[in-house]
Amino acid sequence: MDFELSEEQRLFRDTIRDFVAKEIEPVASEWEATDRYPTEIVEGLKEMGLFGMMIPEEYGGLDLDFVTYAMVFEELAKSWHGVAGTLGSHSLACKIISVHGTEEQKQKYLPDLATGKRRSGIGLTEPEAGSDLQGIKTTAKLDGDHYVINGTKTWITNARYADPLPVLVKTDPSASPAHKGMSLILVEAGTPGFTVSKDLPKLGYKGTESCEVSLVDVRVPKENLIGGVEGRGMQQVLGALETGRINVAARALGVAQRAYDEALQYSRDRHAFGQPISEFQAIQIKLADMATKIQAARLLINWSASRADAGGRVDMEAGMAKLYAAEIGVEVTLDAMRIHGGYGYSKEFVIERLYREAPLSVIGEGTSDIMRMVIARGLISGKDVIG
Ligand SMILES: Cc1cc2nc3c(=O)[nH]c(=O)nc-3n(C[C@H](O)[C@H](O)[C@H](O)COP(=O)(O)OP(=O)(O)OC[C@H]3O[C@@H](n4cnc5c(N)ncnc54)[C@H](O)[C@@H]3O)c2cc1C
Repeated sequence: MDFELSEEQRLFRDTIRDFVAKEIEPVASEWEATDRYPTEIVEGLKEMGLFGMMIPEEYGGLDLDFVTYAMVFEELAKSWHGVAGTLGSHSLACKIISVHGTEEQKQKYLPDLATGKRRSGIGLTEPEAGSDLQGIKTTAKLDGDHYVINGTKTWITNARYADPLPVLVKTDPSASPAHKGMSLILVEAGTPGFTVSKDLPKLGYKGTESCEVSLVDVRVPKENLIGGVEGRGMQQVLGALETGRINVAARALGVAQRAYDEALQYSRDRHAFGQPISEFQAIQIKLADMATKIQAARLLINWSASRADAGGRVDMEAGMAKLYAAEIGVEVTLDAMRIHGGYGYSKEFVIERLYREAPLSVIGEGTSDIMRMVIARGLISGKDVIG
């Protein structure tokens, strides 16, 4: 296992860091506070080709390795978690189409998704079903050469920009087990009956929209069924969430790393009882624990990403990386707040924002409880952690 980045990965990271320093950092706190959509930043992400991270080169993408992909999310989230969100579920959708799409679907969508001319997201969660995706109620009935879709999706990131949006539906609601009757269908923006019905106000992860989406008698050509065969939707989704969780873990890591960096600097600058607070053992213990947890999370992420690069499924590895990085993200941002004292609670310091941005990672793309189930399933089936 190689713990060092290659020269190429290092150069790529420097490019991202440079962009973040110039284009995101100066506006992040102000735009986050007003929940302003980061239009100009998205244009920059397009220019760097980042919307094509998960798309093969033959369709115009960067086809990045997973270690570099994780690094991109870490660097963006260090500055603004919400901006990383514009790329997260988009990349997941690109992966699904790249791996499972028909050749016609790939030709039609991937080149524009790679440049960001088209954007995407993923429509899984419903008001009454999140972890339990087999409990979704959205249906798609074949009527001639069209599917007619009815249902409601919620918490859909990028909903206002997604074109197309892959939507998880039941094409056979009577199937048992339920996943055998589930499919993913690409719904294009502007299709009659497809409406973004509401924006959901939220704690953090601002800038990028999270919406409820309503589908009423939405007629979609049957060619939009991903892969062209019904009943494969759950497999397609689980295959994408597997590596999607590497990006969620990397975002949690970015938020934690930034909180630690801020806390370390603050502890050097802030004086109490005649000395910098970094001289107090209570502060040193916090800093040591924070840095160790962060580095352990980074190693888990790089390990799962390296295994993904080597091929094969990494549900367990990505589950471990996401579980750990998300949980320590919450702990580290709270410790960073403690180190800042009252200033950590003030909106004038970035810690307050990081503290609000951390918890999403323990929920999105599978809660920590679900991660533990995924990990245990891998262990029980005999998957080896040591390799
Ligand atoms: C900001 C944000 C953005 C999101 N973006 C998207 C998106 O783009 N697309 C999308 O489809 N979804 C999105 N989601 C939804 C997210 O994936 C779900 O919220 C998440 O999967 C949890 O589902 P739920 O909210 O229905 O919670 P529930 O499934 O109702 O879970 C509630 C609690 O029960 C626990 N639980 C449930 N089942 C079990 C079990 N079997 N064993 C043990 N504990 C269990 C959970 O861990 C949790 O603690 C987003 C959510 C947020 C907050």
